[in-house]
Amino acid sequence: MGLTCKIFGHKWRNCWCVRCGAYRDVDHEWNGCKCEICGTVSNERHTWEKSKTEKCTEVCASCGRTRSTGHDWEQISSCLRVCKVCGYAELTHIIGDMIADDYDDARDLYYRDYVCQRCGRRIRKYTAYGDFTRGEECTMRLSFAGTVSQQDIEELKKYDALHQEMKNL
Ligand SMILES: [Zn+2]
Ligand SMILES: [Zn+2]
Ligand SMILES: [Zn+2]
Ligand SMILES: [Zn+2]
Ligand SMILES: [Zn+2]
Repeated sequence: MGLTCKIFGHKWRNCWCVRCGAYRDVDHEWNGCKCEICGTVSNERHTWEKSKTEKCTEVCASCGRTRSTGHDWEQISSCLRVCKVCGYAELTHIIGDMIADDYDDARDLYYRDYVCQRCGRRIRKYTAYGDFTRGEECTMRLSFAGTVSQQDIEELKKYDALHQEMKNL
C-alpha cells in the first residue's frame, strides 16, 4: 500500500486502486465471466457453448473452462453403463458383505474381497490403499474411443456377463 493510500484510503476504480495498484474482490468490470481489470473469473457468469472438439461437453466462450452436459446412458448391466454419444463408461458397485480377508503373494499386499449388493460381483480392495465401508459406492471410470454403436453395446454386454462369471469363481 502506498503512503498516500495509507493516509487517505485507496482511490478505487472498480476493483482496482488507480493510485497504488491494490485489488479488491468487489465491483469487477465483467466481460462474460472474466473481469477485464484484474482477470478474476466468476463461476456464475460463464457463457456455455457446445464444444466442437469434445462430445457431451460445453465450453465457456470467454475462459475456456469445460463442463459435462450429461450423458445419453445405455445400461449394460445392473452396475455398468455407457454413454452412446461419447463412449464414457461407469462401473458403479455398492459394497456389501466382506467375503475374504487375505494376502496376495503375487502383489505382496493384503486385500479384502467384498460382494456388490446390486450385481453380486466380487470386488477386491488392497488394504494398503484404504478400505470400503458397507453401502459405499465404488465407481470405476472407463472410456471407449468415440461414439458407441449398438454392436459395441452388444459386445460390451457379452464381455460384462463373461467377466462377472469369471470374477465369481
Ligand atoms: Zn491504493
Ligand atoms: Zn476485477
Ligand atoms: Zn468462463
Ligand atoms: Zn457422453
Ligand atoms: Zn455391482
